[in-house]
Amino acid sequence: MNIGIIGGGMTGLVLAHRLSLQGHIVTVFESNKQLGGLATYHDYGPLVWDRFYHVILPSDTHLINFIQKIGLGEELRWRPTLTGCYINQKLYSISNTIEFLRFPPLSLIGKLRLAFTLLYGSRIKNWQGLEKITVEDWLLKVSGRNTYEKLWKPLLLAKLGENYKRVSAVFIWSYIKRLFSARDSSLHKEQFGYVVGGYKTVFDQLEKLICSAGGHICTGVTVEHIASHPDSGIWVEHSGKKEHFDKVIFTGPVNILQHVVAQDLIKISGDRPTVEYMGVICMVLITRKALVPYYIVNLADQRIPFTGIIGMSNLVSLKETAGLHITYLPKYVLSNDPLLQQPDDELRKLFFRGLHLIFPELKADDIVVSHINRAQKMQPLQVLNYSSLVPKIVTEHNDFFVLNTSQFVNETLNNNTVVKHVEEFMRKEYMLKREQGAGSREQGAGGIPIIKIRGLYP
Ligand SMILES: Cc1cc2nc3c(=O)[nH]c(=O)nc-3n(C[C@H](O)[C@H](O)[C@H](O)COP(=O)(O)OP(=O)(O)OC[C@H]3O[C@@H](n4cnc5c(N)ncnc54)[C@H](O)[C@@H]3O)c2cc1C
Repeated sequence: MNIGIIGGGMTGLVLAHRLSLQGHIVTVFESNKQLGGLATYHDYGPLVWDRFYHVILPSDTHLINFIQKIGLGEELRWRPTLTGCYINQKLYSISNTIEFLRFPPLSLIGKLRLAFTLLYGSRIKNWQGLEKITVEDWLLKVSGRNTYEKLWKPLLLAKLGENYKRVSAVFIWSYIKRLFSARDSSLHKEQFGYVVGGYKTVFDQLEKLICSAGGHICTGVTVEHIASHPDSGIWVEHSGKKEHFDKVIFTGPVNILQHVVAQDLIKISGDRPTVEYMGVICMVLITRKALVPYYIVNLADQRIPFTGIIGMSNLVSLKETAGLHITYLPKYVLSNDPLLQQPDDELRKLFFRGLHLIFPELKADDIVVSHINRAQKMQPLQVLNYSSLVPKIVTEHNDFFVLNTSQFVNETLNNNTVVKHVEEFMRKEYMLKREQGAGSREQGAGGIPIIKIRGLYP
């Protein structure tokens, strides 16, 4: 089958690879000149590394298996890392139980309530119930006011701004669930991983595998319109051309979907609330010395414009980074926040002011390069009853599908979930399903009739 995939990020490329393994001929359209979407890379001058910080957790089993299957298992590296917290103008290590028990900003009762919240949260299975309660109300109930005001509220403000008041408890529960599973309980240490060469290695390998299976990758091509073909299949319009595909899968953000898709493919009403996205601004510093000994420092300080310090070179070997240290300083904002449109120099000034409050001794000489990266549509805002807003995978048209990260209703945004989401899509065998009318039929998921083209697909 001839399949068009809109979006050459992780979802689009994992999907293209999996479909080409089944014998389909795929064509991937990607607006940007380079593949990878949010997980893409950047040439910082002395080194090339991910545009935004990415880490692999030992519990990311879908992602790890996928990396192994595409022949990059030998390129995975694991390293114990430390976690810090900047609170009341001080940096604390909270990397093990003893440090956590010593953590001064919280009283003993506060610590017990925090530990209880993490343990209790990691065991909750009924996430649907959490969609109906705000994250603030849930944390107040489970952690108590003191722990909430001292720790959770500043963290929520840092991650979501004032929008935290509209966000459901699923937001924090999914983080707790993911981070809890990362701890190696036998060693009581965090082991984090990465692929040698960063995500560039993964995307280069996927491009090679997709193309050698007969697939096509079109970068720098923005799909402008997607419509149904009068006979069967789907038209895709780009660069003044129309291409016909048997099936098309859209993997970009919901607002772009709404903009490019014909009304008969997917029902989108202008009046209904839709998915809102958070954006991110991230200053990347390449320095001669490490700023912190931690992989991640959570910041809970309203004076600092960024919300974390990610000391990537405490995870990644210095051989990867030309002996230099790479640190990411992210700030999360709503996708329509005017800050996202500020010129790089303005953002640099703002971030450096915050940086000097934490590291007054930092000198201009220590910094080799500073760079501003930004993404407007990064992560959907998990408002109350969020799952009712997301587009379904199966649309009004048998040959058009939507597969994107907005559909992660009970997971955090990460590439393990991306791979899992694609695997679930593949298991449902949507590419074998046809409209009622021809050939032998059987019922598929959601009552959709399936035609098995025997012998062609295993
Ligand atoms: C700051 C940050 C930190 C992160 N940290 C981690 C981490 O530590 N670990 C982890 O596993 N994950 C992490 N992630 C998440 C990870 O980056 C995402 O899971 C992943 O990139 C999502 O991929 P995607 O393909 O679904 O979406 P995207 O990357 O958004 O890809 C969609 C692609 O579609 C293209 N597109 C859209 N519309 C069109 C059109 N009309 N025509 C052609 N192309 C189009 C876009 O250009 C884009 O490239 C992080 C993300 C960010 C931003």
